[in-house]
Amino acid sequence: MAESTTISNTENLMKYLDLPQRGFCMAEYIWIDGTNGVRSKTKTLDKKCTDVKELSEWNFDGSSCDQAPGDNSDVYLRPVRIFPDPFRRGDNILVLCECWDHDGSPNKFNYRHDCARLMEANAKQEPWFGLEQEYTLLGLDGRPYGWPKQGFPAPQGPYYCGVGTGKVYCRDIVEAHYKACLYAGVKIAGVNAEVMPAQWEFQVGPCEGIDLGDQLWMARFLLHRVAEEFGVVITFSPKPIPGDWNGAGLHTNVSTKDMREDGGLKAIEAVMGKLEKRHVEHIAVYGEGNAERMTGQHETASMDKFNWGIADRGASVRIPRQCAAAGKGYFEDRRPASNADPYQITGIVMETMFGGLPD
Ligand code: ADP
Ligand code: MN
Ligand code: MN
Ligand code: MN
Ligand code: MN
Repeated sequence: MAESTTISNTENLMKYLDLPQRGFCMAEYIWIDGTNGVRSKTKTLDKKCTDVKELSEWNFDGSSCDQAPGDNSDVYLRPVRIFPDPFRRGDNILVLCECWDHDGSPNKFNYRHDCARLMEANAKQEPWFGLEQEYTLLGLDGRPYGWPKQGFPAPQGPYYCGVGTGKVYCRDIVEAHYKACLYAGVKIAGVNAEVMPAQWEFQVGPCEGIDLGDQLWMARFLLHRVAEEFGVVITFSPKPIPGDWNGAGLHTNVSTKDMREDGGLKAIEAVMGKLEKRHVEHIAVYGEGNAERMTGQHETASMDKFNWGIADRGASVRIPRQCAAAGKGYFEDRRPASNADPYQITGIVMETMFGGLPD
C-alpha cells in the first residue's frame, strides 16, 4: 500500500477551512459503537449552538456498527455533551451522544446510561476519577510505528519518558492531540512516552462523576481523528506485542470527598476489602484480552487474585506513597486494560463502594 494515498492532504484542506459558513454550523455527532470504537457523522445546524439541550436527536444504521440487527437497524443518538471542534474551529462543535434503541431503552452498548444513574445516586460522595490512558501507535503495516520492518528495536529501557532520536516515536501526533484536547476543553492532565517504544500515555482528570467517562471518550475520539491525518493507526490493545514488551493499561485513580479530607486514608483502606470481594466482577468489565497483559510481570499484578499495597506497582491496587504519608488522597486501580470502557470502570467502582442502583 502506498502511504501517500492513505494520508489525508491536510495542507490543501487548510485553504477551505477558513471559508465563511454563512451562519451555518457543523455538528459532529459522535457515538461509541458495538466494537468499542468511536463513530461519527456530521449535521448542518442553521445557527450556532451553545447548549446541548438545543440539539435534536438523530439516528444511524445500527447494523453497520454492530449495534443492531439488519431488520431493525435504527439506533437513536441523544446528544449529552458539546465541545468546541478543534478541527473545524469557529462555532463548529463536537457532540457526544448516547445510543438508544427504537423501543426507548438504552442500546446494549450504552454503558453511559447506568453509569450516569450511579453517579447521580451518589453525587454527595463527590467521586473524582483520573484515568491514565495508554495506547500504541501502529503503522499502516500493523507494526508499531517506527519499529524496524524486520526484527525488533533494542530492548525496553530508554523509551519511557524518552527524549532523542531512536528513543521516542511520533511525538508530533502526541503534541497535536494534546493541543486538540486543550482546545476542546477536555481535561487532559498530562502525557508521557511509555516503556514500549511507540507506546504513549495521556491522563484525563480528575473529573467528577460521569464527566470522566465523557471526557475520556472525547479524548479517544480526538486521538483517532488526529492520527488519521498522520496516517497512523491507534490501537488500545492491552498487549499489542507478545513477549517482553509492556502491555497497555488504563490505571484508574479514585477518590471521594471523605478520602480527600484529613484522615481519609481510613476511608481508602475501608474500600480495599470491598474491592477484594468483587475482584471477579471488576475483571469482567476491565477490558478484553486483559489476561495477556496481567501476567504479574511488566508492572502488573496477577489477574487471579486481588492484592493492594502502598507504592506497590505490582499490586492490583496501589495507594500512592504520598497519600499514605499525608494520610489522605486517592487510590489507583491498576487492573483495567487500555481498551476498557471508562463508564463501565467508574460505574463498577461506584457500585462496589456504595452499592448498586435500586430497581
Ligand atoms: P502514575 O504515577 O500512576 O503514572 P499519573 O501521574 O500518570 O500517575 O496519573 C495520576 C492521575 O491521578 C492524575 O493524572 C490525576 O488525573 C489523578 N488524580 C490525582 N489526584 C486525584 C484524586 N484526588 N482523585 C482521583 N484522581 C486523582
Ligand atoms: Mn445515508
Ligand atoms: Mn501514569
Ligand atoms: Mn503508564
Ligand atoms: Mn499509574
